[in-house]
Amino acid sequence: PFDVLVVGGGPAGATAAIYAARKGIRTGVVSERFGGQVLDTMGIENFASVPYTEGPKFAAELENHVRQYDVDIMNVQNAAKLTPAEVEGGLVEVELASGARLLSKSVILSTGARWRAMNVPGENEYRNKGVTYCPHCDGPLFKGKRVAVIGGGNSGVEAAIDLAGIVAHVTLVEFDSQLRADDVLQRKLRSLPNVDILLSTLSTEVLGDGAKVTGLAYTDRTTDASHTVDLDGVFVQIGLLPNTEWLSGTVDLTPRGEIVVDDHGRTSVPGVFAAGDCTTAPYKQIIVAAGAGATAALGAFDHLIRTSVP
Ligand code: FAD
Repeated sequence: PFDVLVVGGGPAGATAAIYAARKGIRTGVVSERFGGQVLDTMGIENFASVPYTEGPKFAAELENHVRQYDVDIMNVQNAAKLTPAEVEGGLVEVELASGARLLSKSVILSTGARWRAMNVPGENEYRNKGVTYCPHCDGPLFKGKRVAVIGGGNSGVEAAIDLAGIVAHVTLVEFDSQLRADDVLQRKLRSLPNVDILLSTLSTEVLGDGAKVTGLAYTDRTTDASHTVDLDGVFVQIGLLPNTEWLSGTVDLTPRGEIVVDDHGRTSVPGVFAAGDCTTAPYKQIIVAAGAGATAALGAFDHLIRTSVP
């Protein structure tokens, strides 16, 4: 069996694997797509000490770094089921979609998350060409430009407030007849001079010139009238979905599906740790996920030295 089995090969999982392997313990990583969300990222400018890199390059370097150690990488494999140890300090089982069963003294869940998409024409075509899901990552690219934020929940309204300080103008688009964000955020938003709020509005198409975004088409749901607004960027903020469906009923999840972790990365199941975007830890960023991966690996190591007699 493994000492540490990491499920997920994004920044959190890769960092966890490096930390575990450096303890000289038997470490494995199962991942559907090594690199994770970083593979879909263009420029990365907020990982301290790396002023600029690109997603695929960053992902390749993550994998190279892990391969410097004796880590068993099982790529293009999907974990489908987790079975807790029968006794404290026993073996946890991870069953893969292929039917293979892996046993480990500890498991680190780092399966990440995916952004909910609008699913309208133009959204995919202009992804990274004006359509983005991450204000912390891409806000500065739109300095002095006009953007839309889709979604009037906390993340959408926070994004609109954040962007209003950087860009020339923000149009916030909400499907419902009211914003769902906390009152204090709504008050802050409404106090900003360069923000328009469109309620009862359905985004229908991301418009572009073939190379980049030029506007957004939408329908006013109260009148059924269609309109367009000229802009350079569309920030989609309608939800981040953790990749944890396969865990429901085993580890404690929040109603939004995030794995509940404590400050050592422990989940509700003994010997099972979690890190990164799939957890309750706030701020979904590469450097945050990587730090959490280190915490979870050290947490798992602590668990091992307390529960297993060599
Ligand atoms: P992920 O990167 O999501 O990795 C999850 C891993 O788990 C993947 O290997 C996946 O294949 C695997 N997996 C999922 N389910 C299973 C399963 N059942 N079995 C096996 N493996 C599974 N952050 C920044 O800091 N700066 C940026 O500039 C930036 N830009 C971004 C741009 C885009 C387009 C996107 C989508 C995100 C961006 N982010 C950025 C956010 C950042 O990518 C994430 O916060 C970070 O990747 C989270 O790391 P993670 O390891 O928790 O999860």
